[in-house]
Amino acid sequence: MSDILLIHGGAGSDSSYVPRLDKYCHLSFKGTALDMVVNSVVMMEDDPVFNAGTGSVKRIDGSIQMDAALMEDGKIGSVAAIEKVKNPILVAKMVMTKTPHVMLSGDGATSFARRMGFPEYDPSTERTEEIWRKTVAFFKGEKVDLPPRYEEYRKFQNMFSPNKDTVGAVARVGGKFAAAVSTGGSSPMMRGRIGDSPLPGAGLYAGSKGAVVATGIGEEIVRKMLSYRIYEKIGSGSLKSIVKDIVGEFGDILVGVIAVSEKEQFSMANSNMATYCVEK
Ligand code: ASP
Repeated sequence: MSDILLIHGGAGSDSSYVPRLDKYCHLSFKGTALDMVVNSVVMMEDDPVFNAGTGSVKRIDGSIQMDAALMEDGKIGSVAAIEKVKNPILVAKMVMTKTPHVMLSGDGATSFARRMGFPEYDPSTERTEEIWRKTVAFFKGEKVDLPPRYEEYRKFQNMFSPNKDTVGAVARVGGKFAAAVSTGGSSPMMRGRIGDSPLPGAGLYAGSKGAVVATGIGEEIVRKMLSYRIYEKIGSGSLKSIVKDIVGEFGDILVGVIAVSEKEQFSMANSNMATYCVEK
């Protein structure tokens, strides 16, 4: 059986990201499946073009809260709405290895990170400030250049940031599978909102049959328990047909998936999605 690492730059991300993904995929192609997914996600968190770690989008109140998770057969580590850390995925890994829990959220996750030695870090960038300024202007009724779907959120008092450029990775090494995901979140996004990414079964799933990571509108991914539903069907047909069927249920609600099984790998999104795969 070959070893494989498949990574994505978010539902909605375009092909201009592929050269970066190519680089990160090759650089992190060593160690266990868990090492590969974590290391590739760290590289993407550190690259400010992605909506994960540095470059994470802001909540409407101007804060940045991030979600990240990793999973391999029987083991899960997750953080939700964590703040002021550079690499949420590394804190999620600590939750898995240093606590009896599977997930920590909010202040508890942030103070756990400090106890584990992660220093305070501001993940905002000029780009995230710009997106936030536009979002605030939009809800003040000013004319700004934002995706059409913003219109449907006008009726809410609380608000938003664009969802794309989240990152994720799935790997198979020596027949073992792992998945990891990290995001600054999606839209509409009030402070405290938690999407699919840190939720096992929704944003990711890994077990003895394969690994799956989702990206896109988190609320809908949670409603449909996307990653677990794909995982449980592995073996019942080609990976491609399984993913296509379930992704088809989303209609035009933004979604993307990367998945590996014992013999296959497949990625698809109902919009652009930059991906890269190394198999040896
Ligand atoms: N699924 C993520 C969320 O809803 C965002 C994304 O994948 O683009 O938080």
